[in-house]
Amino acid sequence: MPGMMVDSYGRKVTGLRIALTSRCNLRCLYCHHEGEVEPNGEISDEMVIGVAQAAAAIGVRSLKLTGGEPLLRLGLSGLIAQMPPQMKISLTTNGIYLAEQAEDLAQAGLDRVNVSLDSLKPEVYRAITKGREGDLERVMQGLDAAAQAGLLPIKLNVVVLKQNEAEIPDIIDFCRDRGLIAQLIQLLDLDHKGLSGDIDAIEARLAAQADHIHTREMHRRKKYLLDGAEVEIVRPMDNTEFCANCNRLRVTSDGKIKPCLLRSDNLVQIDSCDCGRIEELLRQANARREPYFRI
Ligand code: SAM
Repeated sequence: MPGMMVDSYGRKVTGLRIALTSRCNLRCLYCHHEGEVEPNGEISDEMVIGVAQAAAAIGVRSLKLTGGEPLLRLGLSGLIAQMPPQMKISLTTNGIYLAEQAEDLAQAGLDRVNVSLDSLKPEVYRAITKGREGDLERVMQGLDAAAQAGLLPIKLNVVVLKQNEAEIPDIIDFCRDRGLIAQLIQLLDLDHKGLSGDIDAIEARLAAQADHIHTREMHRRKKYLLDGAEVEIVRPMDNTEFCANCNRLRVTSDGKIKPCLLRSDNLVQIDSCDCGRIEELLRQANARREPYFRI
């Protein structure tokens, strides 16, 4: 495609991840706040639309809405309805407000959702999420509503922690029964709190049991198919292959383009809602892209 962004490491940019708000109703023990150092903002609708249009003009085809918690954003369906039609739009949410919103979001043009859920045990879920709103039952209702609204495929984001590693086989069974894709995520232990579960051991077991292993283009993520279950592994830490195949840019909740989740010294401030100007800024950010882990 003419004008498509490719960085100096030969990596195309095909995906954009926008944090719609820094507000969240949960306080997960391990949250990396999408790499924002002092999350404190809410990017305007005009800027989100400008960024999405500029990105679409230069070949970005997938848009992930995140936060904070994106379902706390007022007027979210109206905003989604104004996104460029060629974009595949997905959203990552803790699911607490999904039951109420799934149908409207689907009607507005949302394609699919990732729901973050680290435990199927109410007390463990509450301990991990800490917020007063950490009610597992609401997440379950949200999953049902998302399926009913056709926000498919639904991925269940599960960060592998000491608190849930023994539960992973049950979580995979749960996903198989409900037709969800289990996405097991390695903890980015940025504060060195020692919360990580043993994702190496989990992946070794999956590899031994899998009927088929598929490697996705994005990040060269492995997807294990076993007994009707689909399990994707997201392992960024010290992973040069992951970074060599990263195709994303991010936009922070306070309107900065962020070339890498793990860096905060190379952001590009968005200073206009004009599509042409934002395209220039996306290209500046692209020029700052470097694989974080590399040989
Ligand atoms: N509130 C939304 C949610 O729960 O999906 C969106 C924001 S949350 C930061 C996005 C995703 O990042 C979630 O799936 C969460 O589990 C994951 N995440 C947060 N902190 C992480 C960390 N330290 N390591 C790995 N994944 C993390």
